[in-house]
Amino acid sequence: MTQAADRIFTNAAVHPLTAEETGEPTAEAVAVRDGSIVRVDSAYEVEFLNGVETEVIDLEGRTLLPGFIDAHTHMDIVGKYATEADLSEADDPTDCLDLLAAQREESEGWVLGFGYDESAWGGEYLTRDQLDSVSTDRPVVAYREDLHLASVNSVVLEAYVDQMPAEDVRKADGEPTGVVVEDALDVLREETAPDPEGMREYLLAAQAEANSLGITGVHDMVRNSPAPRVYRELDQADELSVRVRINYWRDHFDAVIETGLRTNHGTDRVRVGGIKTFTDGSIGGRTAKLSTPYADAPGEDGSWVVDPETVQDLIERVDDAGLQMTVHAIGDSAIETTLDAYEATDGQRHRIEHAEILRDDLIDRLADEDVVVSAQPNFLKWAREGGLYTDRIGDQRREDSNRFGTLLESGATLAFGSDCMPMDPLFGVAQAVDAPTQAQSLSVTEALRAYTAGGAYAGFDEDRLGTVEAGHCADFVVLEESPWESDDIAGIDVSMTVVGGETVYDDRG
Ligand SMILES: [Zn+2]
Repeated sequence: MTQAADRIFTNAAVHPLTAEETGEPTAEAVAVRDGSIVRVDSAYEVEFLNGVETEVIDLEGRTLLPGFIDAHTHMDIVGKYATEADLSEADDPTDCLDLLAAQREESEGWVLGFGYDESAWGGEYLTRDQLDSVSTDRPVVAYREDLHLASVNSVVLEAYVDQMPAEDVRKADGEPTGVVVEDALDVLREETAPDPEGMREYLLAAQAEANSLGITGVHDMVRNSPAPRVYRELDQADELSVRVRINYWRDHFDAVIETGLRTNHGTDRVRVGGIKTFTDGSIGGRTAKLSTPYADAPGEDGSWVVDPETVQDLIERVDDAGLQMTVHAIGDSAIETTLDAYEATDGQRHRIEHAEILRDDLIDRLADEDVVVSAQPNFLKWAREGGLYTDRIGDQRREDSNRFGTLLESGATLAFGSDCMPMDPLFGVAQAVDAPTQAQSLSVTEALRAYTAGGAYAGFDEDRLGTVEAGHCADFVVLEESPWESDDIAGIDVSMTVVGGETVYDDRG
């Protein structure tokens, strides 16, 4: 007699999203026991596992897929957006000020807002005078969406301007305007850094947001943060509704080694990922390292945030220690330098984050190596005609950027993530399916697999996550509509998210 299931999800269009996926549902029901999938089959067959204590969930024909894995995110930032004032939808400065005033009423101390985009109203950054209207006795900070610029009120300037590099404090007629950039933000970050209790609030808000988007696993990038401790405390208290893979910044490398942590150590829910470093910066800031100069800044070819020798040395040490390495590299020179170093190691599934500006020879090398291309399909928004890439790097390199189709065709391994711009897998899938060029675009199946099986592989989790199969963790997402039949994939509603067989989000009407 077969043991009964704990839960049965039935009357669904099940897409296991294995390598054999055709876009047609291959099963109607999934049975779960002890957090794992025990059967994926017709409703008739799975019904044999329906015992007296089995809970049956009728999905009324909805589409069931493996849960999304966001392979590159920053959960503290997602939490900040959810907990502090979210300025990303503001249409004008007045909107921003209203949102900040509402936040002032709900909080004590610092009044923080995140994600404003001045291009929505004609390009003027928020000023000190505007922010003084929110408060003249509490510090007020509004961060621009890229987190490289912030607007602050007079209280902040009076208390901290002496600790900010003068060249990073914008002035008009000799007076600070309230706009501060780059290193001037360090002191703000330090002063507003959450303690473990504050971080707990951020991470709980972030995981609720992730679950509402169908995300069941994240690869988080952490630096000088109480997040690793808080994740483990939430795990011990059974309060973690997302699987977390922690990638530690390079300045934690010695501590990771000394405390005996290694890649894949951990529990069912919280595991050690790799060591993360920058090489270059970003296209927007003209700091991505290119082999030929920027189109809109002749003679400039970007800059190293971490010099190549340091990166190469680190990669060697991380590889020797048996840890996974994960390297931020956006420009083609940065990707090349990273590959040079990876090719000198035994190549244990190391990762390149972003890998936006590609050359044919780099694609060939990415395909040949056991390297994961951890990319952000939502960045294709900049690769559209007239988008940010057009100005910065010109049309040829714009069209050659983020060539997901060519990468897959060549045999490279692709894992998709959001970098929280925005966190939303279906938005990313839609961008990849509807990419500007053929070489950049993926089929619905390929894009979904990059956001599921791809992330699982990047996290050494392919034997337990990323597909709907017997023996795998019962992590899935239920959608209102089939992405293969939809003409608005980004607009498909998430109906339910399940992690380890437990419903962590339910929005069925
Ligand atoms: Zn990032």
